[in-house]
Amino acid sequence: MGRIVVTLALASALAGVACRREPPPAAQTQTDPMVQQLRSMTARFAPVDLTADISSLPANERQALAKLIEAAKAFDSLFLRQVWAGNEPLLLTLVRDSSDLGRARLHYFLINKGPWSRIDDNEAFVPGAPPKPPQGSFYPPDSTKNEIESWIGTLPATERNRATGFFTTIRRGPDRRLMAVPYSIEYQPEVGRVAALLREAAGLTAQPTLKRFLDARADALLSNDYYASDVAWMELDASLEPTIGPYEVYEDEWFNYKAAFEAFITVRDDAESAKLARFGSELQEIEINLPIDPKYRNPKLGAMAPIRVVNTVFSSGDANRGVQTAAFNLPNDERVIQEKGSKRVMLKNNQDAKFRMVLQPIAKVALASADQAAVSFDAFFTHILMHELMHGLGPHNITVGGRSTTVRQELKETYSAIEEAKADVSGLFALQFLVDRGKLDQALSQTMYTTYLASMFRSIRFGINEAHGRGVAMQLNYFLDNGGVTVASDGTFAVNQQRIRQNVIDLTRDLMTLQAVGGYTDATQMIQRLAVVRPQVEAVLDRLKDVPVDIEPRFVTAEQLEAKEEEP
Ligand code: ZN
Repeated sequence: MGRIVVTLALASALAGVACRREPPPAAQTQTDPMVQQLRSMTARFAPVDLTADISSLPANERQALAKLIEAAKAFDSLFLRQVWAGNEPLLLTLVRDSSDLGRARLHYFLINKGPWSRIDDNEAFVPGAPPKPPQGSFYPPDSTKNEIESWIGTLPATERNRATGFFTTIRRGPDRRLMAVPYSIEYQPEVGRVAALLREAAGLTAQPTLKRFLDARADALLSNDYYASDVAWMELDASLEPTIGPYEVYEDEWFNYKAAFEAFITVRDDAESAKLARFGSELQEIEINLPIDPKYRNPKLGAMAPIRVVNTVFSSGDANRGVQTAAFNLPNDERVIQEKGSKRVMLKNNQDAKFRMVLQPIAKVALASADQAAVSFDAFFTHILMHELMHGLGPHNITVGGRSTTVRQELKETYSAIEEAKADVSGLFALQFLVDRGKLDQALSQTMYTTYLASMFRSIRFGINEAHGRGVAMQLNYFLDNGGVTVASDGTFAVNQQRIRQNVIDLTRDLMTLQAVGGYTDATQMIQRLAVVRPQVEAVLDRLKDVPVDIEPRFVTAEQLEAKEEEP
């Protein structure tokens, strides 16, 4: 099977699905129940046009951007192959099936990058598909987890590092012995093509840090040594902000060793970047005004981890499957993190699309009608920015019984939920503080609490088994117990403006004080008591069944850009 064929099949499949919106329900008089079922599964991802403003980019930068999109496309088929060796042949079969059922399967396959529904515990939706292989195609198909584990145990240090590294697959040699194969060899044709396109983009851009990153990443794809290019990515300071390469290890469910290919081709959001810089200069002032005992405040905050706000023009591979990424932290290489730290990239237009397609419909169901109008994207996104910054404030290095330690060490498994709740609620505190000091518009205090109330339902809906959901459930129950949030007799929720501010101050104090003293027992009790879904909340979640879970983006700006570049 030719790989070019698969790339073309994928391209035409994507185009076909993008152009073809499903017929409205009224037209479905006698639809096959299987088609019906697939369509309702697919409808949980609301189709949305994703756009980014590239009007201020000079022609050469736009050409560079078009090259980056072209490069990113190669990662869709590579990622398919990494998920399962059978993915590409199955895609070719699905593309050839023009029946309604075939189209419906293809559409959902493309959303999931495979025949398993990622938000339904990877349940297969194409007949004959095996269960999703937890090891992807990173290890030999006839190997077992035990075999790989004991083989790795026999290796000397250097070879073991290679075998457990991000950028190798494990294969059998002719003698059936296991060996590590670098991605630069395993995926040679594709990574070679991507490297060439990155070099072309590097030749087009006039921005030195971008040029350096693109050249370094092209080298990395061919040499399999990503270190220098990760460093260059940390130093990137340009209007185009591409993240392209093998990064996250979630598809390797055996060991989380192997990185999957992905690309986020994005452009910097200058207005939000300016807002971030402004907030950055207020952080020390916020810290010394935190509602905690002054002895727990930090008189001199350290350097802030870099944050970029960008808009997605195109994404591919691991960056475009199932639920869409709203923000990410990279790189994952510990050596780079030690030396340069890591960078948080926030995808503003993805968040805006999620806000419109998911959060607003949730607000219509969950909130009292008077409150619905107060839900605003500006409040939503500004709070997310402040949440990220607040992770850097409050207690981190603490003293417990004369011993120097950290909040993370003392709070153990309760740490993440407490820390996420802290960042959320102290984010509200910080925004109110800036409003009161005249640094932010007064209107924000009329929208941010209600917007946050709606967004709490969105988080809890994703489940309270992970830190974010737990932290949010704790806050919502705290507000309910202390009057900041009320429930009407019709089951809708509302913010009580008279109480919410004091609730936010009190909960910020409780959480940060608990962190400052390393109160593990208190944290455990607080989670047991508050990180639960109470019947009133459950009733709202039940009424959210028809609200989309997430979005299915169509990359309109990328399509327009490509159409332009193809003109003679
Ligand atoms: Zn967080």
